[in-house]
Amino acid sequence: MTSPAKPDTVVHGNREWRKFYKRIGRHERRLKDSLRKNILKNVLENLDSLQNSIQKYAIRHVSEPPGGTTYDIVHDVIIFNIQRNNTANFIHETTHGGQYEKGEIVYRNYLARGLPDTCGGVGDDFDDEIAAYRAQFALDPNSVFDLPNKLNKHPRRLKEIDKPWLVNVEDTNHHPPVLIYLPNGKDGVTERHINIFSTRRDMIDAYFRADSTQWRDDYILGNDPRYLNYPAKLRRYRIAHPGPQAAKSTVPPFTASTVHPRFLNCASTLFLSYGP
Ligand SMILES: [Zn+2]
Repeated sequence: MTSPAKPDTVVHGNREWRKFYKRIGRHERRLKDSLRKNILKNVLENLDSLQNSIQKYAIRHVSEPPGGTTYDIVHDVIIFNIQRNNTANFIHETTHGGQYEKGEIVYRNYLARGLPDTCGGVGDDFDDEIAAYRAQFALDPNSVFDLPNKLNKHPRRLKEIDKPWLVNVEDTNHHPPVLIYLPNGKDGVTERHINIFSTRRDMIDAYFRADSTQWRDDYILGNDPRYLNYPAKLRRYRIAHPGPQAAKSTVPPFTASTVHPRFLNCASTLFLSYGP
């Protein structure tokens, strides 16, 4: 794996990103409820840190819920797949972006025949999802209350966004509806908490239907070169770029010329970048 020669592209300057940011800030200032207010403060802080990250992020529009956060391996971009104009959805997916930056979620980082080159995260667990739903609830309670639920659970308070609720959230665009967060034991969401410190035992417990021979006795997810994890990426970047932090202060002016043609073809992808 090579170190990037310059800071990676960031979403700073993206109009839609700024619009969401302003909207969330306005909401936070108006809110009386201190719990929700604090969560929105954290949401704004998270957006700040994503904006100043060495990781590239992009917004892509999807027509139907649920959204998702995926990694485009070829272009090294984390993509927030959200519904247009849906601030709650934006908060949910960017919360997963923050979890990626903290090492709570990693992404497959190799191309293989038969596997898509844009993939979902490993380590997306119930805790990560509950945090993402609580964050969007802080802005718009109805965005969570209204979600189809097999047991007809509809949270009116933050603490009602819990595991029994989550596991019964349905995607009613499918017939019959599917339980979005029911762990399949192979990939996708897990009930067990998984992050870059997870061991062989943790992986086997979380992905109980996967081939366990892939994890050696001394396995640690954060050391697995098959996965992109942000703390390791940042460490490599800092080793390759000693001295004062360059990411914020010395970036060249915005230009759209580095946008890969593939993204330009995708009309709904908003993707702005720095760099020559
Ligand atoms: Zn989620």
